[in-house]
Amino acid sequence: MSHPEPEYDVIVVGGGPAGSSTAGLLAQEGHRVLLLEREKFPRYHIGESLISGVTLTLDALGVRERMAELRFQIKHGGSLLWGADQTAPWSFRFREIRDARFDYSWQVRRAEFDAMLLDRARELGVVVVEGATVRGPLTDGERVAGVSYQFRGEADPIDARAAIVVDASGQQRWLGRHFGLVSWHDDLRNMAAWSYYAGALRYPGDHEGDLLVESCAQGWLWYAPLSPTLTGIGYVTPSDRFAETGLPPDQLLEKQIAESNEVSWLTAGARRVDVYRTARDWSYACSQFSGPGWVLVGDAAAFIDPLLSSGVTLAMRGALSLSRAVHEALAAPEKERHLMQVYEDRYRDFLAALLDLIRFFYDGAHGRDELHLRAQAIVDPDRLMPPKISFVSLLSGLARGDETLDRSPRTAIDRPSDAI
Ligand SMILES: Cc1cc2nc3c(=O)[nH]c(=O)nc-3n(C[C@H](O)[C@H](O)[C@H](O)COP(=O)(O)OP(=O)(O)OC[C@H]3O[C@@H](n4cnc5c(N)ncnc54)[C@H](O)[C@@H]3O)c2cc1C
Repeated sequence: MSHPEPEYDVIVVGGGPAGSSTAGLLAQEGHRVLLLEREKFPRYHIGESLISGVTLTLDALGVRERMAELRFQIKHGGSLLWGADQTAPWSFRFREIRDARFDYSWQVRRAEFDAMLLDRARELGVVVVEGATVRGPLTDGERVAGVSYQFRGEADPIDARAAIVVDASGQQRWLGRHFGLVSWHDDLRNMAAWSYYAGALRYPGDHEGDLLVESCAQGWLWYAPLSPTLTGIGYVTPSDRFAETGLPPDQLLEKQIAESNEVSWLTAGARRVDVYRTARDWSYACSQFSGPGWVLVGDAAAFIDPLLSSGVTLAMRGALSLSRAVHEALAAPEKERHLMQVYEDRYRDFLAALLDLIRFFYDGAHGRDELHLRAQAIVDPDRLMPPKISFVSLLSGLARGDETLDRSPRTAIDRPSDAI
């Protein structure tokens, strides 16, 4: 096994969307970047329904055409059957925010999507090492100055040093756990169970790729059309409620599908074609996103909830913002603390807006109009736009970044504090 060089400008831990985007964008700026990923790609990952805000980063990386080459299902918006008084699904379209750059998104197969992003990082000059698990930070006084990592099956750890270490290790929260920073949102301790089905029905026209979200007994179902023939279906419920049912996850998922209003008829002629999978998707945020020589991005910083399909977009918009902050900090180390704080403030502001709406969703009884009004109260308290526009901009992952809509992605990179 040949070992990479021991010195870099930046080391990125994790090759998911947050890590490969941050690394690729920094290499694009001419920095020497090492990315360490413990798995060998392609590897399975949940989180397949993307929202249109992700396009900012895809364009900055120059990979939008590759999304078409990979034939990912185009998604023009979402459909919801949510709220006590709702008897039929209602929908939103990304194009309602009136910017053609963001009028669609994708349902992706994450193994292929993540591998494409990692390949792009390599093309841009990142030294990508797979099968390398990062164990601990190397320190220089109070400063994180590098990492110690191990190849699978090898006993000896290897050291690599860099001016800045980016933790993009996802829900492993490598540094968050090391520094004891993780703080749980106790009201959002959920369990998810899901599988994949062939032969489920599609909505007509440009609703074909919609993610359908249907509220049901103490939880909700997602219905994600990944291709004309393949659909991902999952059930999310509070962890304690899951324990109370006494049912194994597979039976609970099938029971909820059978008892649902919308998903049940869409899947009437479908058959399961994959194993059942589960996750505890407990919501959390780290109490600090950065410190001397280190910074967190994506799920390593915070995970809110799968309800609004925002995880990958947060990870990749975070990467866009962070890459510029790191670029500037490398040129002016005395500004590192300030730049990281601005990055963190913008990221937290965005997270807080989504968290507010998610909590309102889970409050249960609210129907479409109330959800729109709540989104307006979060995004547009002066009520300058119709409530639905606020709702769509939040569900597109573009709210709190309205100003970025007026700039090209390139300009967005040039203004890190505005990229989120
Ligand atoms: C049930 C569920 C449904 C979801 N649905 C959606 C959805 O529809 N849409 C959406 O946008 N998001 C969704 N998400 C969230 C989404 O999966 C994540 O937000 C997203 O993957 C975060 O990207 P990331 O790059 O931060 O982390 P990841 O994609 O998890 O990548 C982290 C990488 O770090 C590597 N790693 C970890 N530890 C180490 C280490 N010590 N050394 C080296 N490498 C390491 C891992 O192998 C992994 O490849 C869902 C989440 C759950 C739980």
